[in-house]
Amino acid sequence: MSDEKIEIVNKENLWSNNHNEKKMILYFAEKFYYEKQENYEIFDGLFRQMVIISRKNYKNKNIKVKSCVTTKFIKQIKYRDVLIVIDVKDDYSYIKKTIKSIEKICNDMNNQIRCFIINNNSKYEKDIINCIKAINICNQSERNEFIYDLICKEMDKKFLKCNYCDFKGDICRASRAKCTVHEKMGCCYSFDYAPFWDFRLTKNVRLCEYLREGKCTTKNISCKVFTCNYLKRQGIVNDTHKMLLLECFFNKKQHDVIQLNFFRAKEDILEKLKERNNDMYFWYILNRKYMIKKKKD
Ligand code: SF4
Ligand code: SF4
Repeated sequence: MSDEKIEIVNKENLWSNNHNEKKMILYFAEKFYYEKQENYEIFDGLFRQMVIISRKNYKNKNIKVKSCVTTKFIKQIKYRDVLIVIDVKDDYSYIKKTIKSIEKICNDMNNQIRCFIINNNSKYEKDIINCIKAINICNQSERNEFIYDLICKEMDKKFLKCNYCDFKGDICRASRAKCTVHEKMGCCYSFDYAPFWDFRLTKNVRLCEYLREGKCTTKNISCKVFTCNYLKRQGIVNDTHKMLLLECFFNKKQHDVIQLNFFRAKEDILEKLKERNNDMYFWYILNRKYMIKKKKD
């Protein structure tokens, strides 16, 4: 077995070589089908060691069902050879709950855990695998950076594939439709908020300092998930709460940090994500605490 806290395994190596350990299966299922052929093939004879974590209650005396994973429950399963099975399709909130539960199990248990993902052609399968990889990264800063880079990569791929901004020369689609203030370079213009007594909303509008020779020289997640009003009117919106990795590992305030720090360097955003803030959410937003303070020249 690898050094990872939780290891994704295939059908052939579901269990460790330690045959003395009591086996236990934690089966996360949107819907569990007792008769499902795959269940029989894999878990033949192990139904008694299985606990199903599901919202649905099953009227079958042979299987144990729990609606959620609690600390008390985790204490009971310590020192067992644990196999987590993920049998999900596209129920986003259940998948989110599953990842949160697996993270809790990994945090509260010392032993290594195996994880088998049933292939249901879920649109979240890749995200689930990435979430498991993130759980294996114990260092918080490293985990944040791993997630940050993955989301940036996904956004780059999506924008490239769909060609949303459709730059021709330095002029983007929204500029061509006369829906932007600037004629060139899309929305790569930084600004400062004007004080509340000022009649302007923004001031110091200028080309972003990270734009060099028409290219961005940092990796800014806020810019990557952003779409302008022109694109939004066409239904092109990136909701960070619909991105499993961000939703499972970052809180509401961190989502604001991710969404609203344009024109900042990657390192500064990652630093800001480490910040703990105990303000009430209302004050947090009102005082724009999510924003990275500008460095004094
Ligand atoms: S997000 Fe809108 S304004 Fe910005 S580059 Fe794309 S099309 Fe242009
Ligand atoms: S940080 Fe944002 S605004 Fe600045 S160049 Fe990069 S993408 Fe453009």
